[in-house]
Amino acid sequence: MGRNNIIRFPRPKNEPILEYRRGSVEKKEIKERLQKMLNEEIEIPLIIGGKEVKTGNLAEIRVPHNHRHRLGYYHQAGKKEVDMAIEAARAAKKDWEKTPWERRAAIFQRAAELLSGPCRATLNAATMLCQSKNVFQSEIDSACELIDFFRFNTYFMTRIYQEQPASSPGIINQTEYRPLEGFVFAVSPFNFTSIGGNLPTAPALMGNTVLWKPASSAVYSNYQIMQLLIEAGLPEGVINFIPGSGSTLGPLVLESPDLAGIHFTGSVSVLNSMYKTIGVNIDKYRSYPRIVGETGGKDFIFTHQTAHIEELVTALVRGAFEYQGQKCSAASRTYIPEGMWPEVKGKLIDQVEGLKMGRVEDFTNFINAVIDEKAFDNISGYIEYARNADEAEIICGGDCDKSKGYFIKPTVIVTTDPHFKTMEEEIFGPVLTVYVYPETEYEETLKLCDETSPYGLTGAIFARDKQAVQKAREILTHAAGNFYINDKPTGAVVGQQPFGGSRKSGTNDKAGSLWNLMRWVSPQSVKENLTPPQDYRYPFMEEE
Ligand code: NAD
Repeated sequence: MGRNNIIRFPRPKNEPILEYRRGSVEKKEIKERLQKMLNEEIEIPLIIGGKEVKTGNLAEIRVPHNHRHRLGYYHQAGKKEVDMAIEAARAAKKDWEKTPWERRAAIFQRAAELLSGPCRATLNAATMLCQSKNVFQSEIDSACELIDFFRFNTYFMTRIYQEQPASSPGIINQTEYRPLEGFVFAVSPFNFTSIGGNLPTAPALMGNTVLWKPASSAVYSNYQIMQLLIEAGLPEGVINFIPGSGSTLGPLVLESPDLAGIHFTGSVSVLNSMYKTIGVNIDKYRSYPRIVGETGGKDFIFTHQTAHIEELVTALVRGAFEYQGQKCSAASRTYIPEGMWPEVKGKLIDQVEGLKMGRVEDFTNFINAVIDEKAFDNISGYIEYARNADEAEIICGGDCDKSKGYFIKPTVIVTTDPHFKTMEEEIFGPVLTVYVYPETEYEETLKLCDETSPYGLTGAIFARDKQAVQKAREILTHAAGNFYINDKPTGAVVGQQPFGGSRKSGTNDKAGSLWNLMRWVSPQSVKENLTPPQDYRYPFMEEE
């Protein structure tokens, strides 16, 4: 039967955040789930064309806050599996791009319902153990944000499809939003399970088929998303799950003439290397691949002398240290006026020293471990550098211990050099550097902030003086793709603060927005003439 209806998806509401209070149902459930996961080891296969594939090339999955504990193993893809996945994506494309959009929408809406209900505790517990996130950080990531991505993307898709050109008498015009020709390569980072889920599903929703390479340190939680999508009815081959080494798999995938786009989130160096490889391979491709890449940040909190001190200190603590500073949006440098500094310093040290650190299973901990040994060594290297530098002083934290888990105490560095290494480079850990400036040099210091780092992701201004806010917005226009006034620079919400930065922070295609989804379609303009002319001559050709 033909379809004679236009389904409307109303603008969704953001998924409410559960609180996990003492005695709550959700707290009991997640504690049970954590225990169950800790008691078993699992073996994670690849999923290609809907089938489990085991390569025997195994890698271990360990708990960052207790690295002696193994959660299981995963199979790693190689060249053969890349070829299989490309073939599976090609085979699935024929039906998937013909699938009516509302069927595609229903699959991702169902995924949102499952995640909001029966799968919530599983994905949250997996994120807690695999990425060492406390329950609240997991809840806002792997439950709420991913549910929002599924629901809002569906809604934004309908808005794109509704955008149609004008028709005129005798002419019907339409825009057909074709999926891209070929497959999309989704490459996701470790730090947000929701990004793992969004990178393959946003292109898939728009009718594309996908190869998804999750981050090696997030395979455990990302595999649960794959299971959720299968449960939601995603057809075989639409998303092909190929964990493994990025530097091995990336170049193999980028060889394919069918590469239609990459949907990447991660570090600058990886995006740069993929961009270059695509450039070198450009003659091989059938189309110009879409490159959507969101990368790092050197995010700031800038303070004017009229700021409210308690509000500022809370933003510094939460903005810099939640999830151990491993958010691309985490505050990692701050500018404080001289006159305010003594009071801010006292309160900041008090609060940071009070942050409780430990394993995620103990819900009283605010801080957990950093992701792995490589990250631990890198972050502790920066702390060591500051410890030995004349122009810097560590005023709290600084202790690092990897004997049981990868624990780094939240650290605050004060520097007299606004270009000190830790003011410029992304550290991606719980390290905040402070630069104290004379209040008479507000504008000059704003300019300094603008020019200090190559990134342009997030930033915040704290001020009660409206003109000072205005000045900061002017001078910092290109310093942040997400700009906050009297708020911490983290915690962007889908549908409310579309997320992404410019400069070296990425292509700024705003994850979870209409603009991002536009990158996964290639519009076709179709004109139908109801009364085609039957004579080539125009009226002007008639003589008097
Ligand atoms: P990463 O760059 O190390 O890894 C990201 C992904 O790229 C992983 O899946 C990895 O295996 C893969 N990869 C590595 N080498 C590759 C290659 N040569 N070809 C193809 N893929 C390759 O990043 P990470 O440590 O997982 O995540 C942290 C980084 O991500 C930080 O820089 C952070 O700022 C950034 N990030 C940005 C945003 C944003 O929205 N802007 C969000 C989250 C994280």
